[in-house]
Amino acid sequence: MRPLFIAGNWKMNPGTSEAAVALAEAVKAGVGQETRVRVALCPPSVFLNAVDGVLENSPIGLGAQNMHWKADGAYTGELSGSMLVDAGCTHVILGHSERRHGMHETSQEVNEKLKAALAAKLIPIVCIGETLVEREAHKTDEVVGTQLEESLKGLTAEEMNGVVLAYEPVWAIGTGKTATPAQAQHVHAFIRSMLREIFGEATASRVIVQYGGSVKPENAADLLACPDIDGSLVGGASLKAADFLGIINAGLAVTAKGKA
Ligand code: PEP
Repeated sequence: MRPLFIAGNWKMNPGTSEAAVALAEAVKAGVGQETRVRVALCPPSVFLNAVDGVLENSPIGLGAQNMHWKADGAYTGELSGSMLVDAGCTHVILGHSERRHGMHETSQEVNEKLKAALAAKLIPIVCIGETLVEREAHKTDEVVGTQLEESLKGLTAEEMNGVVLAYEPVWAIGTGKTATPAQAQHVHAFIRSMLREIFGEATASRVIVQYGGSVKPENAADLLACPDIDGSLVGGASLKAADFLGIINAGLAVTAKGKA
């Protein structure tokens, strides 16, 4: 069975390296050596080194929030996969909706980044999800399916085994609106059926598909208990150690009841 995987996307927060270190230290202390639920922190890239230092001797992974697909060269302001590995990263978030919609990042670019991340031996967390307009037009499956196909294009089943997906309905990110467990499970089951079609049953049953969108300690258990939801990508609630630990504890409780 798939272990639950909870990742904190700190976005452009907190404001200082001292605050980043303090947040990472509090999460590290709360997680201890617990590994039944996997955890990763994704701070802003300028804090990666400092947070990596905190996470020494901890099972918590370290993720970046973006990367470039080129290995080096004249790409001002960008970071390569090998630079992220050098900074201590194990994971990288790709195609977050704030980049797809705010910075016009395309699924073709996400696909290039994904291949570069795998070449650098990073675990990519590839985000897909529909806007409110698309959901209301009953286009959720179509939009999510197209993003999935285009973002994962050309990957072998073996490569796909090393990829994490995050279903993040855009209307639920940072808005306080969460997909109901039934809404989220429907899309997760659809994603898994597409993985089965493209990569086969063995890979489809192995790939972790996180849910993201206003996950909090209060709603985490119901979402994480759904059969095809394998964890969460957490934004706002990952900025308070107590809330993030509350979500991890909800994952542990679900796991203890036989989820993983
Ligand atoms: C996110 O940033 O991926 C996210 C899901 O944010 P929030 O939890 O704040 O909705």
